[in-house]
Amino acid sequence: MGVPKKKKTKTKIGRRQSHLKIDPPQMVECPHCHELMEAHRVCPHCGYYDGEHKVEIVVKEHKKKIRGR
Ligand SMILES: [Zn+2]
Repeated sequence: MGVPKKKKTKTKIGRRQSHLKIDPPQMVECPHCHELMEAHRVCPHCGYYDGEHKVEIVVKEHKKKIRGR
Protein backbone atom coordinates (compact mmCIF):
# COMPACT_ATOMS: atom_id res chain seq x y z
CA MET A 1 0.00 0.00 0.00
CA GLY A 2 1.27 3.46 -0.85
CA VAL A 3 2.43 5.46 2.14
CA PRO A 4 2.73 9.26 1.87
CA LYS A 5 6.38 10.37 2.21
CA LYS A 6 5.65 13.60 4.05
CA LYS A 7 2.89 15.13 6.15
CA LYS A 8 0.69 17.58 4.23
CA THR A 9 1.66 21.15 5.07
CA LYS A 10 -0.89 23.55 6.56
CA THR A 11 -0.76 25.56 3.34
CA LYS A 12 -1.75 22.55 1.22
CA ILE A 13 -4.58 21.57 3.60
CA GLY A 14 -5.76 25.20 3.52
CA ARG A 15 -5.91 25.19 -0.28
CA ARG A 16 -8.20 22.14 -0.22
CA GLN A 17 -10.38 23.55 2.58
CA SER A 18 -10.90 26.77 0.64
CA HIS A 19 -13.23 24.88 -1.74
CA LEU A 20 -15.43 23.41 1.03
CA LYS A 21 -17.03 26.66 2.14
CA ILE A 22 -20.86 26.74 2.38
CA ASP A 23 -22.50 29.89 1.04
CA PRO A 24 -24.93 31.66 3.39
CA PRO A 25 -28.58 31.26 2.33
CA GLN A 26 -30.00 34.02 0.14
CA MET A 27 -32.33 36.17 2.23
CA VAL A 28 -35.29 37.98 0.67
CA GLU A 29 -38.13 40.07 2.09
CA CYS A 30 -41.42 38.21 2.55
CA PRO A 31 -44.09 39.75 0.29
CA HIS A 32 -46.75 39.06 2.97
CA CYS A 33 -45.25 40.15 6.32
CA HIS A 34 -42.09 41.93 4.99
CA GLU A 35 -39.78 40.01 7.36
CA LEU A 36 -36.44 38.63 6.10
CA MET A 37 -36.68 34.96 5.08
CA GLU A 38 -34.79 32.37 3.02
CA ALA A 39 -35.55 32.47 -0.71
CA HIS A 40 -37.71 29.59 -2.09
CA ARG A 41 -38.83 28.58 1.45
CA VAL A 42 -42.10 28.92 3.35
CA CYS A 43 -41.88 32.12 5.45
CA PRO A 44 -41.05 31.19 9.09
CA HIS A 45 -42.92 34.26 10.39
CA CYS A 46 -46.34 34.00 8.68
CA GLY A 47 -46.27 30.57 6.91
CA TYR A 48 -47.00 32.04 3.48
CA TYR A 49 -45.46 30.76 0.25
CA ASP A 50 -46.25 31.85 -3.33
CA GLY A 51 -49.11 34.07 -2.10
CA GLU A 52 -50.89 31.24 -0.26
CA HIS A 53 -51.11 30.31 3.41
CA LYS A 54 -49.26 26.96 3.46
CA VAL A 55 -48.15 26.26 7.04
CA GLU A 56 -49.66 27.13 10.43
CA ILE A 57 -47.02 28.72 12.69
CA VAL A 58 -47.43 26.91 16.04
CA VAL A 59 -44.14 27.88 17.76
CA LYS A 60 -45.33 31.31 18.94
CA GLU A 61 -48.52 29.91 20.54
CA HIS A 62 -46.51 27.20 22.32
CA LYS A 63 -44.19 29.82 23.88
CA LYS A 64 -47.18 31.83 25.14
CA LYS A 65 -48.55 28.72 26.91
CA ILE A 66 -45.24 28.19 28.76
CA ARG A 67 -45.16 31.83 29.94
CA GLY A 68 -48.77 31.59 31.17
CA ARG A 69 -47.94 28.93 33.78
ZN1 LIG B 1 -44.00 36.21 5.90
